[in-house]
Amino acid sequence: MKGEKTACCGCAACADACRAGAVRMAVDGEGFRYPVVDAARCVGCGQCEAVCPMGRERGGGGGRVWLGARAKEEAVRLGSSSGGVFPVLAEYVLRRQGAVFGAAFDKSMEVVHREARGMAELEALKGTKYVQSRMDGIYRRVEALLQGGTWVLFCGTPCQAYALKRFLGREYARLVLVDLVCYGVPSPGLWRDYTAFLERRHGPLTAFSFRDKRNRDRGRTRAYTAGGREYAANLGRDLYCGMYFANLTIRPACHACGFAAPDRGSDFTLGDFWGVEKVRPEADDGKGISLVAAHTDKAREIWSEVRQFLDWFPCGEEEALQPRLKGPTPASRLRGAFMGLYRGLPPAVFFPLYEKAEAAANLARRLMRCFR
Ligand SMILES: Cc1cc2nc3c(=O)[nH]c(=O)nc-3n(C[C@H](O)[C@H](O)[C@H](O)COP(=O)(O)OP(=O)(O)OC[C@H]3O[C@@H](n4cnc5c(N)ncnc54)[C@H](O)[C@@H]3O)c2cc1C
Repeated sequence: MKGEKTACCGCAACADACRAGAVRMAVDGEGFRYPVVDAARCVGCGQCEAVCPMGRERGGGGGRVWLGARAKEEAVRLGSSSGGVFPVLAEYVLRRQGAVFGAAFDKSMEVVHREARGMAELEALKGTKYVQSRMDGIYRRVEALLQGGTWVLFCGTPCQAYALKRFLGREYARLVLVDLVCYGVPSPGLWRDYTAFLERRHGPLTAFSFRDKRNRDRGRTRAYTAGGREYAANLGRDLYCGMYFANLTIRPACHACGFAAPDRGSDFTLGDFWGVEKVRPEADDGKGISLVAAHTDKAREIWSEVRQFLDWFPCGEEEALQPRLKGPTPASRLRGAFMGLYRGLPPAVFFPLYEKAEAAANLARRLMRCFR
């Protein structure tokens, strides 16, 4: 729990760790949550600092194995964003009457970490949500389950996974810690405003997929249902996703992320297998392939059991290391101006204005191409 914005990843472990209830998460003008300490309640125990995952040595990785993999069952893969390795690992834990933690949409389409104890509940956790998820109460819940001897699989961003490890403060044989290759987390406040904008335009939003695979385009389609109608388009043409991939809406700390490297402190790292068409063209059918790093002996042991449910191949580190495993996403030089506008304008003005500016910029780009 550090003062500057670039030093806080928003994992909220400090709030969960504070037994005095002195730390709460408050939303800033960009829509991100930061811890605020109530000095009157603080007992100075230092637990909030102790669990903070930022700027720590992580180590690990001795004997790390890199793999490409996809679920054999097509329905599993189609429900996931990459190769569907997460649900395969999740089933390993559910078969042991365990609990799986991942990110889901709640009733108001906000993204929250949640517990699944069966296959039906697991559905909501599948798939990438490009929004920073809320972790309130999750660290304590995972600890309570592990102390009671329950198997737990936790999947989240590398900072969340490492925060959980620090929160627990000791190894648990029944914990499977999974993190994601991460581009950076976008603002949950901006997401909420975007969903409100869509609802004003189309009616109630009931489903949103950031990585739909209907076009066999490796999940580069986003699809949502609003007012009873479905809208599908290229991911980059979605207003919210366009802002994200233009590096305008990512949390400040993500641009200095220390986890954008192979050493994570988790058992598994999952990502998209970028460039698989060059490494294994025969495996690339457009429906997604995961990149998997098995960092620990525990991971390699689990892998030897679950690999029967996957088509997989080993690969070298040089084939696996995509940009987000080498360094953080750089911020756009327009980020400050963009966030200034977002803070200053009501959402009902901001989104239509941005949409018009985008349309004008696209038109200008097309015209430039014609005259070239
Ligand atoms: C914000 C974000 C950025 C990402 N950036 C990259 C990238 O640059 N390069 C890359 O290779 N891969 C990236 N990924 C990972 C990738 O999109 C897939 O999530 C990953 O490959 C696992 O896919 P899967 O098919 O195995 O499982 P899936 O079924 O798709 O499982 C996805 C898992 O991620 C969890 N999850 C979803 N949304 C969130 C969230 N907002 N916060 C925390 N956990 C979440 C789900 O609960 C589930 O456990 C990113 C994921 C997220 C959430």
